[in-house]
Amino acid sequence: MKVGFIGLGIMGRPMAKNLIKAGYELVVFDLNKEAVEDLASCGAAAAESSKEVASQVDVVITMVPNSPHVRAAVLGENGVAEGAKPGLVVIDMSSIDPTESKAIGAELAKKGIEMMDCPVSGGEPKAIDGTLSVMCGGKKELFDRFYDMLMVMAGSVVYVGELGSGNVAKLANQMVVAINIAAVSEALTFAKKAGTDPELVYQAIRGGLAGSTVMDAKAPMMLDGNYKPGFRIELHIKDLNNALNAAHAISAPSPLTAQLMEIMQFLRAEGCDKDDHSAIVKYYEKISGTSIVK
Ligand code: NAD
Repeated sequence: MKVGFIGLGIMGRPMAKNLIKAGYELVVFDLNKEAVEDLASCGAAAAESSKEVASQVDVVITMVPNSPHVRAAVLGENGVAEGAKPGLVVIDMSSIDPTESKAIGAELAKKGIEMMDCPVSGGEPKAIDGTLSVMCGGKKELFDRFYDMLMVMAGSVVYVGELGSGNVAKLANQMVVAINIAAVSEALTFAKKAGTDPELVYQAIRGGLAGSTVMDAKAPMMLDGNYKPGFRIELHIKDLNNALNAAHAISAPSPLTAQLMEIMQFLRAEGCDKDDHSAIVKYYEKISGTSIVK
């Protein structure tokens, strides 16, 4: 199977490399020429546009920041739709608003192109290891057809439902993660102000009901004052914006997500938008006038 890959950033680059390692023939494009050259040196064919990618392959994967970028790559000038052969399938693995996944899918369908939304969680380390969690929306028949290819990049690939469902799952994930990081931040800042050692409090509670993957990943970073991304605040703002838009469209009140959005606006105003999302703790440190860094 010949695979097109558009969007070779932090995530797309290692994902594409894993497909090459597994024996897939790749045709790649990114607005960043250096990324395309890097993939070409690993054996991919370099294209000059998304249109040129689409004209040579059976399936196109997109891994770009947000829905305007997906639209530009697939429906824009020199985009996938202009070059697509009959029967082409687009698998968008970017994290975008599910309403947009459906809208883009409907426009592609008019041109005879099918689409799945298959966003991922796990970040750069898991993209490199090929152990991402992939959540899939679209026709079940497409899921079955591309399951093995997706598993090359993943530790788990789960079918969630119709087109858009993958991004509903991804936004649910992003809501839980943001709220969980805030809960850890609030608790450890409280512990510090109460005169205890936040690191010992973390060690005392991590094995109980309060423990979580988020706590184990982020509390050590907070205690070290290490905010190297990881997952940048600016991308989490993008996800919470998509989550709130999608939630408001269906009257699903999401008060905690809205509160986290405002905390992240504070962090952006403070110039922390390139920090890892563990920097949510900086908001708590500021409002409580303390620091939990060891
Ligand atoms: P990134 O900014 O590092 O990479 C995006 C790439 O897309 C860039 O190389 C850019 O040049 C390219 N691009 C943008 N518009 C394009 C277009 N029209 N045509 C061709 N190329 C185009 O972003 P990333 O961190 O790789 O994230 C990609 C997606 O994965 C986002 O939706 C993000 O939310 C999601 N995601 C990221 C992480 C993470 O930890 N970084 C984890 C899970 C999911």
